[in-house]
Amino acid sequence: MDDEFFMYEALVQAKIAFEKKEVPIGAVLVFENKIITRAHNLTESKNDPTAHAEILCVRDASKIFDNWRLTGATLYTTLEPCVMCSGALISSRISRVVWGAKDIRQGGNGSWVDLFAKKHPIHQLEIEGGVLAEESAALLKDFFKLRREENAV
Ligand SMILES: [Zn+2]
Repeated sequence: MDDEFFMYEALVQAKIAFEKKEVPIGAVLVFENKIITRAHNLTESKNDPTAHAEILCVRDASKIFDNWRLTGATLYTTLEPCVMCSGALISSRISRVVWGAKDIRQGGNGSWVDLFAKKHPIHQLEIEGGVLAEESAALLKDFFKLRREENAV
C-alpha cells in the first residue's frame, strides 16, 4: 500500500489531537501493511514532554509484539520526528520512517539537526520526509492561529 494512505491515517490522529487542544501531530505504526498502533501527541493532557505521537506508537507496538525490536515495521508521522523521537526510533530498530512536514525547531532529520546523516554503527533505517507535508503543515498553522486568537480574547 502506498505511503499517502497511511499518512492520511496519521493525519486523522493529528486532527484528534487538534480537537483536544494538543499540538496536532499524529502517527501510525505499520507492519505487513496493517496498522498496528495509532497515536497522537498528548503532551498537554499527560503533562509529559515525552508523550509524542511517535513514542506512544512505539511503546504500544512493543507491548503488542511483546518485543521492543520493531524490525520490519514502518512509522508514519505527520511531522519530522524531533531529536528525542529520532533517537527512540533508532533504538527501536524500526526499518522505515516516513514523515510529513518539516520541524525547524526540533526536527531530527535535518531541519534542526540530522541524527540520520551519519551511518549508525548497528542499525540502518530508511527515512523519507515530505509526504503530505502541505496537509500536515496546514493543520499546524491553523492550530497555532486559533490558539493565538483564543489567547488574544
Ligand atoms: Zn518527538
